[in-house]
Amino acid sequence: MADTTQIEWTDRTFNPWTGCTKISPGCDNCYAEGWSKRSGHVKWGNNPRKRTTDAYWKAPLAWERDAKAFEARFGRRQRVFCASLADVFDNQVDPSWRADLFDLIRLTPSLDWQLLTKRPQNIKKMLPDSWGALGWPNVWLGFTAEDQKRYDERAAVMGKVPASVWFVSYEPAIGPLRLNGKGPFPNWLIIGGESGPGARAMEPQWVSDVLDDCRRGGIAPFFKQWGQYENNPLTGQLQLPKADMKGIDPHGKGGGLVGGQIVREFPVCGHAA
Ligand code: SF4
Repeated sequence: MADTTQIEWTDRTFNPWTGCTKISPGCDNCYAEGWSKRSGHVKWGNNPRKRTTDAYWKAPLAWERDAKAFEARFGRRQRVFCASLADVFDNQVDPSWRADLFDLIRLTPSLDWQLLTKRPQNIKKMLPDSWGALGWPNVWLGFTAEDQKRYDERAAVMGKVPASVWFVSYEPAIGPLRLNGKGPFPNWLIIGGESGPGARAMEPQWVSDVLDDCRRGGIAPFFKQWGQYENNPLTGQLQLPKADMKGIDPHGKGGGLVGGQIVREFPVCGHAA
């Protein structure tokens, strides 16, 4: 299993186990389920999760040993997305596996762990006792919200969990999302349209509205991609076929320019180099 990644907002991926159950409309075209079918590594849905190997679990310790070199080269800390092929706060996972994961995170203080879930309601009860009133400084907690309904439900619980950074992945964006109400609001918002077969459309207006909200609310926005060139407003403005758009806007799937700009910011955190 590869630990390098093409995901634009992180440096590494780590999957302590694989397998998950669909729980939300955003799961309909789950990338990880497609991977599981192709690889045969684990059966998706309400089936046993599969822990990754001991050798694989040693990789973050090696990244920790190399952290100073990484920071010298890139001028910032290394980020690790956990988990791209599972959900850290899945209640069908053996709790001892999650305890082992938090032990590993504690042993790698030079890495910024980005824990992204669709089950934020489970976070509080699944965190280690030593989490404390501020959270661990090397853990960013995030949830996915594909639309306003999912954001409102999940932010209500996430806002009560201490974290050095909390973030939201509005990907796949399949409905509008505004962050202009009462809050609570995250430190960081990833925005992305759905890609691949059966991808659902993302409207340019959703993007400009939520970016306005980020600017007004002091939320760092990371616009990852339009998902499909059909969603990308440049395609219509330039009246070009999709094939030609790749040369003009090659950023992410379906392009990643917003008004001619790359919008890829990161939150300020205690560790920011
Ligand atoms: S929560 Fe994530 S990994 Fe699990 S089924 Fe949904 S999209 Fe896939």
